[in-house]
Amino acid sequence: MIRLGVNIDHVATLRNARGELHPNPVKAAKYVKKAGAHSVTIHLREDRRHINDFDAKKICSIKKLLVNLEISTNPKIVNIALKIWEGLSQELNYNVMFSQRGVMNLAHNLQDVRDLKRRTHANRLNGIDAVYLNTEQVKKFCPIINTSQDIRYPVLGGTLQRRAGTARHDAVAWGYARGADEMGVDIIQNCEVKGIKRNGDTVEGIETTKGFIKTNKIGVVAAGHSSVIANMAGLRLPLESKPLQALVSEPVKPVIDTVVMSNAVHAYVSQSDKGELVIGAGTDDYISYSQKGSHDIVEGTLNAILELYPIFSRMRMLRQWGGIVDICPDASPIISKTSIKGLYFNCGWGTGGFKATPGSGDLFAHTIANDEPHKLNAAFNINRFVSGDLVDEHGAAAVAH
Ligand SMILES: Cc1cc2nc3c(=O)[nH]c(=O)nc-3n(C[C@H](O)[C@H](O)[C@H](O)COP(=O)(O)OP(=O)(O)OC[C@H]3O[C@@H](n4cnc5c(N)ncnc54)[C@H](O)[C@@H]3O)c2cc1C
Repeated sequence: MIRLGVNIDHVATLRNARGELHPNPVKAAKYVKKAGAHSVTIHLREDRRHINDFDAKKICSIKKLLVNLEISTNPKIVNIALKIWEGLSQELNYNVMFSQRGVMNLAHNLQDVRDLKRRTHANRLNGIDAVYLNTEQVKKFCPIINTSQDIRYPVLGGTLQRRAGTARHDAVAWGYARGADEMGVDIIQNCEVKGIKRNGDTVEGIETTKGFIKTNKIGVVAAGHSSVIANMAGLRLPLESKPLQALVSEPVKPVIDTVVMSNAVHAYVSQSDKGELVIGAGTDDYISYSQKGSHDIVEGTLNAILELYPIFSRMRMLRQWGGIVDICPDASPIISKTSIKGLYFNCGWGTGGFKATPGSGDLFAHTIANDEPHKLNAAFNINRFVSGDLVDEHGAAAVAH
């Protein structure tokens, strides 16, 4: 059935512009309900330019009215992940080289400034530390950034999350693998899944290069290849798979002790313990499973990096690689059961799934064990692409996809 939802934000915008009490968004919500709409949408924005906290409270308390309250839900998962990261080395008894050196996101135009301020406030509303820095504060925090205003991407400010940082990805994979092994999990290496066996709408097992594994529950966490595996079960996922590239330079003495990202160009840079610059680029614009990525993306990224950090102009890149990332249309992940009984997917993390690993893993385990989502991942179900209850939170991934 087609359902009607009415966005009443601009009723409040008009009231605010008039500086009066009319028109009243709470009354508007009641009219909309009376007229037969199924829901109203309100967006509690950082600058409260539409509805305010009082309106939101009143509208949400209207009996039997479905309210689509637009506010971030993703940060909660990332925040759980961050708490787990902080104790992960101790928990796994394996040094995952977690380093809370801060992550700064730069703003290069007025829209960036607005978006990043909104993101800062959305994070703070969710109890996550974040501050907005002006250009001088950015320069103070990371002196090698070029803050002159006549460059192609002038720095107008940036957000800073001090508790964020880096971890070494292979150490994390090994740490988890060892921890799982100690708990009795069988890890079968070099074993490719080739097919999923179904009996009607229920899974029966998986075909692999090392034989058949009978099971009534399958949790798929295959990132860029999630659609390929879904296809084996006859399921179509709302995902696009694209190459994403990273580069590593020759090692140099410590020069940058934080992580700096730029959404406008999707270039980010940090320095590894060995002294290499670790540079990330954006995704290719087209769908592909080629683990290389296009040259023009690397060229664009390095051009932007050189403009922002002229100090790197004579450095040589040692290696470059591409991986396949799985991107959902609303830029939020899927942690969900599916229409096939016993088949679960954790995917759609795009270019930002590493940081969420512990949080998403916990919630996925809960979903598989209980055959029901945890309340924190309930919104990230696959049915949202049918019901329209999307989680359109591009900012939460902290990147530009
Ligand atoms: C270059 C690059 C840079 C990135 N940088 C960041 C970053 O800075 N921060 C961040 O948070 N995220 C980053 N990401 C994204 C992040 O790496 C992913 O979101 C994350 O690794 C996804 O984790 P996962 O466990 O879901 O999947 P993966 O870690 O990709 O694991 C999926 C596994 O499934 C296996 N697999 C696939 N198909 C099959 C099959 N048929 N049979 C058996 N096994 C199969 C694969 O071999 C792989 O080992 C980056 C990604 C890339 C490519």
